[in-house]
Amino acid sequence: MGAGTGAGHGTIWYVYVPENTVDPRVAAAARSVVIRAAADLGLGQIYVRWFCPADALDRALDRLARMAGAERRCFAYGAGLVGVTTPLEPDTIALSAALTARDVGRVVRHEARHLWQFRQHIPPADEEGDAEQYALLGLRRL
Ligand SMILES: [Zn+2]
Repeated sequence: MGAGTGAGHGTIWYVYVPENTVDPRVAAAARSVVIRAAADLGLGQIYVRWFCPADALDRALDRLARMAGAERRCFAYGAGLVGVTTPLEPDTIALSAALTARDVGRVVRHEARHLWQFRQHIPPADEEGDAEQYALLGLRRL
């Protein structure tokens, strides 16, 4: 089960980008909310990765990296993705580099809740509803 937020119709390729390509206010807001959400949910250290839509060069470099056995640079997901987590990396949240400072807190809390879900013996039946409820409750608390 993918744990993405904001995935619309159609699948596109994304590429991971360094944090220094992200608006510093957005990166700072993400760090701040990550720390608070991790403490609130008892998650420990959470890492943030950033992504943006991949172009043809990104895809070519990704294919070379895979052939060389290097770390994966690109991934496919629904268009309009703003945040994603995977049980394969249960301590990492990936965020869209296009997020605004206004929206990043809600997305971080949503994705942090998915990391919390991965650690539950009995995860909530409605994982997306649970994550979104947690994200919105946090906004009211701020
Ligand atoms: Zn989700």
